[in-house]
Amino acid sequence: SGALGRTDPEAARYVAAEYARQRNSIELIASENIVSPAVLQMQGSVLTNKYAEGYPGRRYYGGCGPVDGIEALAIARARSLFGCAYANVQPHSGSQANQAVYLALLQPGDTILGLGLAAGGHLTHGAPMNQSGKWFRGVAYGVRADDHRIDMAEVEHLAYEHRPKLIIAGGSAYSRVLDFAEFRRIADWVGARLLVDMAHFAGLVAGGAHPSPLPYADVVTSTTHKTLRGPRGGLILSNDAALGKAIDSAVFPGLQGGPLMHVIGAKAVAFGEALQPEFRSYAARVVENAQALAQTLAAGGLRIVSGGTDTHLAVADLRPLNLTGNVAEKALERVGITLNKNAIPHDPQKPMVTSGIRVGSPAGTSRGFRTAEFRLIGGLIVHLLETLAANPEAPDPAVAAAVRAQVAELCRRFPLPY
Ligand code: PLP
Repeated sequence: SGALGRTDPEAARYVAAEYARQRNSIELIASENIVSPAVLQMQGSVLTNKYAEGYPGRRYYGGCGPVDGIEALAIARARSLFGCAYANVQPHSGSQANQAVYLALLQPGDTILGLGLAAGGHLTHGAPMNQSGKWFRGVAYGVRADDHRIDMAEVEHLAYEHRPKLIIAGGSAYSRVLDFAEFRRIADWVGARLLVDMAHFAGLVAGGAHPSPLPYADVVTSTTHKTLRGPRGGLILSNDAALGKAIDSAVFPGLQGGPLMHVIGAKAVAFGEALQPEFRSYAARVVENAQALAQTLAAGGLRIVSGGTDTHLAVADLRPLNLTGNVAEKALERVGITLNKNAIPHDPQKPMVTSGIRVGSPAGTSRGFRTAEFRLIGGLIVHLLETLAANPEAPDPAVAAAVRAQVAELCRRFPLPY
């Protein structure tokens, strides 16, 4: 609506379509959320017009007074939210936050040790197709075949054998609390630095529903748009002032040019929201809701990787229903439930097929769903997948229509905040 609709109706149509999609479907993608109207307004503000290379008080452009204020506010709020000495709020994304840490701490050819992609790790932790795996020697640890937990004995063994300069903890599809103290002990033992990438669970840390990695890690990276419920972007934290200096130089001028001041403004707003008492109940509900959803899927015959979740996400193995992740993802999208196919540990299927799905509770929790709604949603997923198992080409049309109607009813009862 408004100026965009009048001046560029063709582009505006896509915004309207995306708005309708978000309004009328249930978002279970574990890395997504629904930002507040205030975050959205700040991100669409005039701050997007401003160049501000440098840092508050040390800019390469004039006219930076107001944006200095907003960046200093974002930094102060990030430090108070996570209880740490240093924060850099300029990384454009989680990937660029990790790249900046590598630029500050590593030389090309150095060895890094991170959770493998197949076990739920992230591309930027040394995967062969990512810059981190091309410019560094990426060594991967995995999860145990029986309980799908990270095997700290394997981490220790690989660290001893490969002597990484950096050990990375964190991932994109790992549902359990990480043993930060043990990672620290191993890093100290082999003389490595420890990076915790808390992109997925940062909001849970901020809301007190998950242990903080800051007492253990040399440096912590994050995205700001997942459980933390801010704008799409990155964040770097540390308690080591000397390291902070090196990271500032790595972000700018090492890696990025002008910071996205409208996004940094929206980070400040999101951090301000996360400092409020309500954010603590949001974070606790995110975990309760993910557990309720995982339990419902398990009761319906799916196998939950690691048997459950301590966080906002769960990965479900569909093999008991003889289904693949891609078939399930497409069929669920057609009834208004959005999630992603996901490899399970030691998955026999290709990455574009997979044997699993990943589900997450942050967006639904932000919308107001409690455990009753998540149990209902879990039941809808099971119901649809059961008919899909009977006929993978097309689920029973009557079942699909009934599920779609219940999705619509939930979306109507729990509207978006805009
Ligand atoms: N690190 C982890 C653990 C992630 O899950 C992600 C996003 O999926 C990233 C980093 C990268 O974040 P971005 O997509 O903002 O580059």
